Amino acid sequence: MATIPPRRVALTLLAHPDDAEILCAGTLIRLADAGWEIHIATVAAGDCGSMILSREEIAAARKREGIAAAAKIGATYHCLEEADVQVVFDKTANRKAIDLLRAVAPTLLFTHPRHDYMLDHEQTHLLARSAAFSYPAPNASQLPLIEGSAIPWLYYCDPVEGRDPYTNEFVTPTTLIDVTAQLDRKAEMLACHASQRDWLRSHHGMDEYIDAMKRHNAHRGQEAGVPFAEAFVQHRGHPFPQNDLLTEIFGA
Ligand SMILES: [Zn+2]
Repeated sequence: MATIPPRRVALTLLAHPDDAEILCAGTLIRLADAGWEIHIATVAAGDCGSMILSREEIAAARKREGIAAAAKIGATYHCLEEADVQVVFDKTANRKAIDLLRAVAPTLLFTHPRHDYMLDHEQTHLLARSAAFSYPAPNASQLPLIEGSAIPWLYYCDPVEGRDPYTNEFVTPTTLIDVTAQLDRKAEMLACHASQRDWLRSHHGMDEYIDAMKRHNAHRGQEAGVPFAEAFVQHRGHPFPQNDLLTEIFGA
């Protein structure tokens, strides 16, 4: 039976800047407050996330926003520098993901689910799952093996809007984390992504960027019996840790 690891390092490996702040930042805040070291990584810099700026300009702006959001909880931001809407599970990206995990040595990893609304997310799922499995193998990377490196607890965040894009059904979570007390700080982290928030605000005429996040967490909160919650599905394939670490830390 696995137990809470002595090495308390959590990593999110998601596709774009703002994915972590939308999908799991409430849980990251709780982990940071509990003394965990937090790393927020994106595969792409989000260089298609603008109607007016060049790829270089919006990528630089979005990386600055990712750094600022991470700094709010003392986390470190990383970017694998793959191109937006061109994330693929290939040798180069796989190598980058393995090296990232080798350098961070997370014991807890968050990524996208197998099925999500856009392919960057699904390909990021493959990269994260592959790296989680392989990074502790000595020959998997030329980077040194940090003591305590092991196959991490792996959790899949909700797909966007919580729905499987093939069935349109809400995904059934294995794990619901109460983020009611963290919701304001989560919104502050998300608000760091001004380039995305401002675009949606002018387009929708309201603060849809923040409101959509809160609506979804309220929906998951109903399932958990609390005002706001984040939902996860734990990966329990061989040979990943089987116990629900998040529920053991924070309670059902
Ligand atoms: Zn995304």
